[in-house]
Amino acid sequence: MTDRPIAVVGASVAGLAAAEALRRFGWRGPLTLIGDEPHLPYDRPPLSKQLLYGAWEPDRLLLRTEDQLAPLGLDLRLGTRATGLDVATRTLTLDGGVGVPPLEQGREWGRLGCAGVIIATGVTARTLPGADRIAGVHTLRTLDEALALRGRLADGGRRLVIVGNGVLGCEAAAAARELGHDVTLVGIEATPMAAAVGTEVGELLAEEHRARGVRLLTGAVDSFETAPADPAGTGDPQVTAVWLANGCRLPADLVLLAIGSRPAVEWLDDPALDTTDGLRCDAYCAAAPGIYAAGDVARWDHPVHGRPLRFEHRMNATEQGMAAARNLLAELTATTDATGMAEDAPAPERRPFAPVPYFWSDQYDLKLQAYGLTMGADRVETTVLDRAERRALALYGRDGNAIGVLAAGLSPRQVRALRAVIATPLPWEEAREQIGATTAVG
Ligand SMILES: Cc1cc2nc3c(=O)[nH]c(=O)nc-3n(C[C@H](O)[C@H](O)[C@H](O)COP(=O)(O)OP(=O)(O)OC[C@H]3O[C@@H](n4cnc5c(N)ncnc54)[C@H](O)[C@@H]3O)c2cc1C
Repeated sequence: MTDRPIAVVGASVAGLAAAEALRRFGWRGPLTLIGDEPHLPYDRPPLSKQLLYGAWEPDRLLLRTEDQLAPLGLDLRLGTRATGLDVATRTLTLDGGVGVPPLEQGREWGRLGCAGVIIATGVTARTLPGADRIAGVHTLRTLDEALALRGRLADGGRRLVIVGNGVLGCEAAAAARELGHDVTLVGIEATPMAAAVGTEVGELLAEEHRARGVRLLTGAVDSFETAPADPAGTGDPQVTAVWLANGCRLPADLVLLAIGSRPAVEWLDDPALDTTDGLRCDAYCAAAPGIYAAGDVARWDHPVHGRPLRFEHRMNATEQGMAAARNLLAELTATTDATGMAEDAPAPERRPFAPVPYFWSDQYDLKLQAYGLTMGADRVETTVLDRAERRALALYGRDGNAIGVLAAGLSPRQVRALRAVIATPLPWEEAREQIGATTAVG
């Protein structure tokens, strides 16, 4: 049995899915899961929903308890950051945390030579220069960040300015309104979520937010106005207003920056890797021999859509974690004696990763669900099925084919039928007909 582990970097959805799949596909050798957060793997979507408005406590977000993780036999290193990867030798450099191996068995302190590596480091929240030294200005990507914001939202009646009207900003606006705060949602685009779902669906969302009392504005942040010290006593100045570049002043007790994210690739400095907008992979999620990627960080050649894609979607992270694990083991069994595999395990089959993309968003009691691609469309057709019930459907096309579909307020059965229609790009008219038939059934 090899003493070189497979290491998974990033202990979240994609990393956990990869670790579990490695065991399922027969890897019995050492398995190291490395995460820079101090927490056991947890789920992020509830951070802007149930956790933010206080319906769920952090324990409910855990993807697995310690007891559930135990059978995996993981060398779990939390609070440990990967700071480098030498691709040729598959050696990781690690920083901090407990259990970083001492100088033994040829391993140097903080260096881990691996049989294979799966990179699942996700993305980090974008921020604005100097914002981290202003009290009351928040980002929302991690559990700790969500708890900090929730703490400040605990007393009602705060003036919250949300900068960025994409999906995260919209969800946070909904949660804060439900808690009774005064919410302003400001974006560079006039329409919320326009980049993700198009302006027509975005306008329907805008109507919903306005009806719930959210103030919607267009503009870019110029600067923050502050008072000398914050009530929490950190010594940092406290935000009192946001100035927009168009001269508009928005009084604020709290600001949430929801201005997008950046793939967590800054630690990958080996020139063998292409880290332009995520870690570039082939159709098998391989970035280099023995090095795979999964989840929000991975930009891979989608075999059906014929171009490199990167998704920041929960389901993709799970599915790609499993695919990367299977394909890494297939490579190892084909190219080495793979001494970490169970003797009776069938050799995993190497397969391109070709998912039907899926994401959802919950805002108030409205659920949006989308299959396929809704970004990069050159044609969108939106049908409002029932305005009062807020039931709507949008079809997205590119180069004459339908490539994506979005549903609001449809039954689970209808949504499942939409997935089947859009699983592979279909000529536009054919897709329209099929979609029409699915919404005719209840
Ligand atoms: C607030 C919020 C709401 C969301 N809502 C939805 C939703 O409604 N629907 C949907 O489809 N998707 C949603 N998403 C997106 C979804 O959560 C992500 O797609 C998913 O978490 C991606 O999983 P991942 O494992 O690829 O990356 P992540 O969950 O980002 O995990 C990456 C992990 O790697 C760690 N890491 C980074 N660099 C290093 C390093 N160098 N060394 C060690 N560890 C490192 C990070 O700290 C993190 O713990 C939401 C995301 C957020 C933040």
